[in-house]
Amino acid sequence: MQSERIGLSTLEDITKLILDSHGPDETLRNIVQLVAERMHTEACSIYLYDNHKLTLRATIGLSTDLIGQVTLSIGEGLIGHTAETGGIVNVNEAQEHERFLFVESLNEEIYHSFLGIPLFNQQSLIGVLAIQSIEPRWFSPLEMSALSTIAFQLSTVVASARLLDQLEREQADANASKVEQIKNKQCCEKPVALRGQSAFSGFAIGPAVLIRHAFGLTDRLDDESLDMESERERLESALESARIDTICLEKKVADRLSDADASIFHSHLMILQDRVLIDKLLVKIDQGSSAVNAVKTVLADYVAAFRRIDDPYLRERAIDLEDIGRRLLAKLLGEESESVQLHHPGIIVAKELMPSDVASLDHHMILGLILESEDRNSHAAIISKSLGIPSLFGVKDALQLIDSGASLILDANSGCVHIEPSDAIRSEYERLKADSVRQQEQLLEFKDRDALSSDGTSVCLRANVGLVSDLELAHRYGAQGVGLYRTEFPYMARTNFPDRQTQYDIYRIVVESFAGESVTIRTLDIGGDKMLPYFEVPEEDNPFLGWRSIRVSLDHREMFQTQIEAILMASTHGNVKIMFPMVSSMDEVIACKEVVRVAKQNLEAEGWSIPDVPFGVMIEVPAAVLLANHFATEVDFFALGTNDLIQYMLAADRGNSHIERYYDSLHPAVLQAIAHLVDVAKRHKKGLCICGEMASDPACFAILVGLGLKEFSVSSPRILPLKSVLSKLSLTQMQQLAKQVLRESRGSTVRAMVDQMLQEADCLANFSASD
Ligand code: PEP
Ligand code: MG
Repeated sequence: MQSERIGLSTLEDITKLILDSHGPDETLRNIVQLVAERMHTEACSIYLYDNHKLTLRATIGLSTDLIGQVTLSIGEGLIGHTAETGGIVNVNEAQEHERFLFVESLNEEIYHSFLGIPLFNQQSLIGVLAIQSIEPRWFSPLEMSALSTIAFQLSTVVASARLLDQLEREQADANASKVEQIKNKQCCEKPVALRGQSAFSGFAIGPAVLIRHAFGLTDRLDDESLDMESERERLESALESARIDTICLEKKVADRLSDADASIFHSHLMILQDRVLIDKLLVKIDQGSSAVNAVKTVLADYVAAFRRIDDPYLRERAIDLEDIGRRLLAKLLGEESESVQLHHPGIIVAKELMPSDVASLDHHMILGLILESEDRNSHAAIISKSLGIPSLFGVKDALQLIDSGASLILDANSGCVHIEPSDAIRSEYERLKADSVRQQEQLLEFKDRDALSSDGTSVCLRANVGLVSDLELAHRYGAQGVGLYRTEFPYMARTNFPDRQTQYDIYRIVVESFAGESVTIRTLDIGGDKMLPYFEVPEEDNPFLGWRSIRVSLDHREMFQTQIEAILMASTHGNVKIMFPMVSSMDEVIACKEVVRVAKQNLEAEGWSIPDVPFGVMIEVPAAVLLANHFATEVDFFALGTNDLIQYMLAADRGNSHIERYYDSLHPAVLQAIAHLVDVAKRHKKGLCICGEMASDPACFAILVGLGLKEFSVSSPRILPLKSVLSKLSLTQMQQLAKQVLRESRGSTVRAMVDQMLQEADCLANFSASD
């Protein structure tokens, strides 16, 4: 609690800090001043890491004459030592420390205690932040934790300052490169239909909303005779308005996701405040350019310069400049900035959506999603599924072939986009749409009813959740809690590891949103198909059989324990269960339990009172099925992760469409494994939930209920259709079906049997063909 008082109050402080600065030097100066003030120390300094050296770039308390002059190698002096250890360095008598390095005229002699912390961005060292106090003392754990939080919060700002700084040098070295010509759109004949792969089925009718991150920086307009003064004013007001939008966007994302997710906009704000950039724009106008052309030319030069930077992280930030350029141009041309706001419902067409787009777009306005990218595991894919938005991926050249505002029909059931469809096609889809709206209305009647079979047996339907904004959807469809909270998103949407407080804040929102209901939080499940941009994973021939999921967590105990502590902290606000993915041995189960024990002990030492949190493991690996009776002695519940279990049992990659036919949820071996697990859970009186996608398939669902499963967790839009299916079938019917299918040796026969039953009971009306 006290750490909050000595730390920053996050967004407000940081936003103010940026708004009070007009360039990287001023920003760094403001940071040291603010940190010294908030940490109640006499000195604070920032060293930036560049070209293998740490250079003093801002200080309060030490000699400012030496800014830019003091340069240290990794390991040199206490600053270099901090960078070398990669962790916090706390020293009560700095000058007695073996690594202390005397620097003439720096005026360090008066300070005794030293607390240094390295600054990281995307796992790369970007600098060191240090505070010093005159009084000789050890800094307390609370102060260390506050400085860690501050360092974490400021890392984006420092990274942006470093980036702007680097850019200046880049630009001085190189002449602005010739920029590429944009593709000549006019020459292509536009087809009337495009194809792609469905990420979430359904269809949508509406206007195309194009999101172009490459906004045509080189597409220059001719400058007509211009009034210089009014162009300057236009530019100033566009900049001001873009800044205000950025702050609003930051707040919106902070509310929806977390402060940490919103921090990406600090970089944008800093760039919009940067005096060097603004001066360049004004010089262009003075030379006779319109404000629009000034923005295009100068930003294009910046983007080109960023692309030339060796550092891959900085190179990737070119996208931020494009984004800013696009928003500034939109302001100047009086258009809306489409990447961040949708003012009317539409079908988004984009190459790929950045996390910031995904986080900031108003999901209610997105009728459908058409992406050129084939990455079905991207943020956009995750979101489209959890929000139930019809989506197609891998639609080649969509941005080139679809005009902004074009009338579209997106049919994600058959993987097709119709551009400016004929009246006949349109009226057919209008009819289908009306049917689907009617079905949805019928389904909504189930919202407040229990999930009951026709003979009155109830099951529990919870939601799979990945984003805080998924919660609204889960409530909309009447989820009875969260059966799987995938904690990857807060990690994936960021540029570095979220700290404990950040994770706790997010988990707490999820838990409190389902007060009184159970919320199962799964620890980080990365690797395989889900990578973190800032996390180095070794090249592997078989990533799904490699270093993923619990293996990564157990190899990074500190990160793992931090996450578990955050989950346990959130458990004080509701009914939380903790769950571990992809375990394959008893050793792992025991190791996870041990980390939970230590995490709990730590928290209790900090004064937290942590309730007993049920401990569960996911059954996703064949070995886990066979060892489940042993695991049962250690765990409170099992969760069937059939997405992975099927791929591992059948040796069929879950993401490879070429072998889709081998990935059969109704394969008899899969059903036998599930039946075995039901039996183990029953004998040992342990909970059993299924959270894999197969539970959303009505055929599988009916068999699973017949096999004895009672707890399901599915993506929210599936809840009501499943309730409807259940209401038409009796438990006896489903049990009989389960008995029969367990005797079968072929998946195709199982499918035929269950389809027949569903058809006879008229269960399929609320499922589209591809669901
Ligand atoms: C699963 O494997 O079934 C599961 C729910 O986990 P994920 O899809 O996140 O791998
Ligand atoms: Mg899984």
